[in-house]
Amino acid sequence: MRITFLGTGDAVGTPKIGCSCPACRDAKKGGRSRRYRPCYLFSDGDVHRGVNSSVNVLVETGPDLRSQLLEHDITQFDAIVWSHYHRDHTGGFGDFWRVKNNMPVYGEKTVLDYVLGEYSFMGHERHDQALLKPFMIGELEFTLFQVTHPDIEMATGMVVRHRGKKAVYTGDTNLDIPPESLALMKGADLLIADAIVPPHINIPKHMNAADAMTLAKRIGAKRTVLVHVAHMYPPHDEAIKTFPLGYDGLVIDL
Ligand SMILES: [Zn+2]
Ligand SMILES: [Zn+2]
Ligand SMILES: [Zn+2]
Repeated sequence: MRITFLGTGDAVGTPKIGCSCPACRDAKKGGRSRRYRPCYLFSDGDVHRGVNSSVNVLVETGPDLRSQLLEHDITQFDAIVWSHYHRDHTGGFGDFWRVKNNMPVYGEKTVLDYVLGEYSFMGHERHDQALLKPFMIGELEFTLFQVTHPDIEMATGMVVRHRGKKAVYTGDTNLDIPPESLALMKGADLLIADAIVPPHINIPKHMNAADAMTLAKRIGAKRTVLVHVAHMYPPHDEAIKTFPLGYDGLVIDL
């Protein structure tokens, strides 16, 4: 499977409007601190043999979606999976207006109720999914699990499996993840983890970088990429010496 990181920023994005901190200055100069809001493309092509994808799944549709699809020249998008209903993860759905009708959308019931209520003008093909029950989109197998993102009642992460490889995306969560979710996350080849801020800052509804690395150890992740990154980190090229931060445009083949 191929995972393309289209948006590794937090709800604010970097640069933050009106900010001139070191990360925002780097972002404005076009450095890797520049981050769009959350969106990840999961493809099931056998990238190692050069076989094209049969399915392209967007995990999250943040408010920068149109720019992300245009800049990466992504013209095939077969389905959307949402982790939770916060706007930084869903606000780009309306960009499919007159671009793709009846998009297949997947998520936990209360998440879909909320998002599709907000975007009632958008045609869609709805696929409610229960927690901890695998479902297929093309050759990709997804499983949603619950995480802890107060004060919303339902936020999920997901396991994505393809040909023996396992990627885990935490969605937005703090470290207080339910045991049945942790069990499912164990042994990830790749962990994509919410780490909104560096270790000296605490935001109760998210993990900081230290929390995310604790989680990585707890589940025995072989590789970890930190995402949902705010401008409070040092500029990317400096921060990457200490933290395995993702960046917009990163591509990982599993
Ligand atoms: Zn800033
Ligand atoms: Zn959130
Ligand atoms: Zn978020």
